[in-house]
Amino acid sequence: MNNERMIQTQILARGVSSPLVLNAMRQVDRSSFILPDNLFEAYSDSPLPIGSGQTISQPFIVAYMTEQLRLSPGMKVLEIGTGSGYQSAILSKCGVELFTVETVRSLAENAKRRLESLGYTGIHFKTGSGYDGWEENAPYDRIMVTCAPETVPHTLIRQLSPESGIMIIPVGYGMQVLKRITRNQSSCREEDLMHVRFVPMR
Ligand code: SAH
Repeated sequence: MNNERMIQTQILARGVSSPLVLNAMRQVDRSSFILPDNLFEAYSDSPLPIGSGQTISQPFIVAYMTEQLRLSPGMKVLEIGTGSGYQSAILSKCGVELFTVETVRSLAENAKRRLESLGYTGIHFKTGSGYDGWEENAPYDRIMVTCAPETVPHTLIRQLSPESGIMIIPVGYGMQVLKRITRNQSSCREEDLMHVRFVPMR
């Protein structure tokens, strides 16, 4: 298995077709975000441990969520749950300005160090609670949440652009539903995309 085989068999074969997303997946090697002990399964079709009881998401889920976000280069994007930084790298390679928030300090610091050493620019890191979003730079054209709250945090909706802002977020306890929330002025449209299982948002 290698990164390209992973993309062919797990991502293209399951219907992700956005050239922007596929190009980003090709430019980021998942093995750069995996702990040494797990390197032999760097391209496996599953989440993997990244320390502190957290996980890097399944590659398909990363690609699918990124596609469902309907990105265009130049957009301002907020990510909640930096984790390993893999999803951050994919978003960054889609050409957006990224603001990423992680609650576990050691994960945030490792991700920052890793992404900077890989040459990423235009990513802003913050250690803090995702429930607060990142007020100073709001509103965001897009918000991606990669940990699951029990309900959609109002603060994040408020930080979403009222001009067709889109948020992708897993919601629920145990079995979760991945939702796409589209904001237009004061109204929000909510769509259920699929069942997922993320670590809880704490
Ligand atoms: N996107 C990550 C996957 C991260 S797993 C990747 O590609 O590797 C979810 C992450 O959300 C974990 O790192 C966890 O520490 C973080 N998290 C959990 N609750 C949070 C909160 N309230 N605010 C910010 N991050 C949170």
